[in-house]
Amino acid sequence: MNNPNFFDVIIVGAGASGLVCALASARRGKKVLLLEKEQQVGRKILVSGNGRCNLTNAYVSAGDYRGTPQLAAAILEKFSFQTCLDFFQTLGVLTTQEALGRVFPQTGKSTAVVEPLRLACMEAGVQIRLGTEVVKVEKKNHFRVHTASGDIFSAKYCVLACGSKAYPQVGGSESGYRLAKSLGHHITALTPALCALNVKEKAVARLQGIRAQVRTTALGTSAEGEILFTAYGLSGPAVLGLSGIIGPHLQQGPVPVNVNFFPQIENLSEFLMQRKQQFAHRKAKEFFAGILHENIANLLIDFVGIKKSAPVGEWPEYVFKKAAGTLSAWPFTALSLRPWTEAMVTAGGVNCAEINYNTLESLRCPGLYVLGELLNVDGRSGGFNLHFAWGCGYCAAGAMAEE
Ligand SMILES: Cc1cc2nc3c(=O)[nH]c(=O)nc-3n(C[C@H](O)[C@H](O)[C@H](O)COP(=O)(O)OP(=O)(O)OC[C@H]3O[C@@H](n4cnc5c(N)ncnc54)[C@H](O)[C@@H]3O)c2cc1C
Repeated sequence: MNNPNFFDVIIVGAGASGLVCALASARRGKKVLLLEKEQQVGRKILVSGNGRCNLTNAYVSAGDYRGTPQLAAAILEKFSFQTCLDFFQTLGVLTTQEALGRVFPQTGKSTAVVEPLRLACMEAGVQIRLGTEVVKVEKKNHFRVHTASGDIFSAKYCVLACGSKAYPQVGGSESGYRLAKSLGHHITALTPALCALNVKEKAVARLQGIRAQVRTTALGTSAEGEILFTAYGLSGPAVLGLSGIIGPHLQQGPVPVNVNFFPQIENLSEFLMQRKQQFAHRKAKEFFAGILHENIANLLIDFVGIKKSAPVGEWPEYVFKKAAGTLSAWPFTALSLRPWTEAMVTAGGVNCAEINYNTLESLRCPGLYVLGELLNVDGRSGGFNLHFAWGCGYCAAGAMAEE
C-alpha cells in the first residue's frame, strides 16, 4: 500500500522497549511509525541510573523479576546478556561493567545510549513523531491509531510500549493501561516498586544524607548494599530492593525493617569488647570514631542510653551487648511507600496470562503487541528493568518479522 499514513508497524511510546522494537523492525525492512507524547525520545532512559543508565546486568536471570518471571525467562532465552551487549555494539555504544555485574555506557552518561538509539532509528528509516499522544487505538481489518491532535494512522501491527505510571515527571502515565484495557486486556493491581520508604521514627531525620553499606531485612527477606537516610525515612539500593515486597503488606499496617550496619562482622558484641581493650580511655563518641558515621554514633548513644561522660573501660558488658544488638538490627518501622513521583518502576500491569510469552503478541487482540514495563513484570535494581524492556522490543520485532 502506498498510503503515507499506512504502516507495517505503529509503536506507541519511544522509550526503551519502543525504540528497540522500532529499530529492529525497520532493520528487517518494515515501514515503522514511532509515536511519542513527549518532546524527546527516551526521557526515562535519560534519568536512569542517576543519569548514567545502568543498561543491563551480566548476571541477569528470571529470578531477578517479579510479577510474571516466566515471561521474563522467555525473553531472556532470546535476549541474553550477550545478545544485549552485541545489540548495543551494533549501535556503536561502548560499555563498561562495574560491581555486581552492572553495565553502563563507558562515557558515564545515559545520552550515550539514547542518542545512538535515536540515530540508528532515523538511519534505518523509522518515522518518529514527537509531541504526539495516542489517545485511542481501534482494531478492524487493521489498526487505526488516533492522536490527541486528531491525526489517524493505520497499520498491520500495533505495539503498546507506553511504559508504566511511575515517575510521571519524565513521561510515566496511565495511558498504556487505558489503551490496553480498551483492546480487551486486564490490569493487575499497580503499586510503586523500587521506591523509598516513609518510616515512623522521627529521629531518622538526624541521619539525613548519610550513606552506609548495610544489610536490610524485612518480612524475612534481606538485601545488602547502600542505604541512604532521608528526612522522612530510608532510601538507597538496599531499601529499594525490598520495597516491592514491603509495599503490598503496608495495606495491612506498618512493616518492621531492620538495618544491620555491620553485616560483615559475625560476632559484633565480641568485636566491640575487643575494641574496648584498645580504647578503654575513650568516651562514648570517640569510641565509635572510625567505624560509624558521627551522627549514627550519636543516635546510638541516645538510643541505647550510653553514659556520654564515662570512659569505655567502665562500661558494663551489657552496654556492649545492647549496642551490638542495635547496630546489627536497628529497628525501623515502614509506614508507607514514597509517592509515584519517586517510584522507579511499577509492580503490576497488563495481565501476562493474556500475552503470548514467546512473541509478546496479545492473545486478546491479534496483531497487538504489549512490551516492557506496561506488562506485569518488574525487575530488581541493577539494570534488569532496562534489559527486560530492550528484550521485549527485540523479541516482538523478531516475531512480527517471522509472521
Ligand atoms: C529514576 C529512574 C531510574 C531508573 N534507573 C534504571 C536503571 O539504571 N536501570 C534499569 O534497568 N532501569 C532503570 N529504571 C527503570 C527503566 O527506566 C524502565 O523500566 C524502562 O525505561 C521501561 O521501558 P519501557 O519501554 O517499558 O517504558 P519507558 O522507557 O518509560 O517508555 C515509555 C514511553 O512511552 C511514552 N508514552 C506513554 N504513553 C503514550 C501515549 N499514549 N502516546 C505516546 N507516547 C506515550 C512515554 O512518554 C515514554 O517515553 C529507572 C527508572 C526511573 C524512573
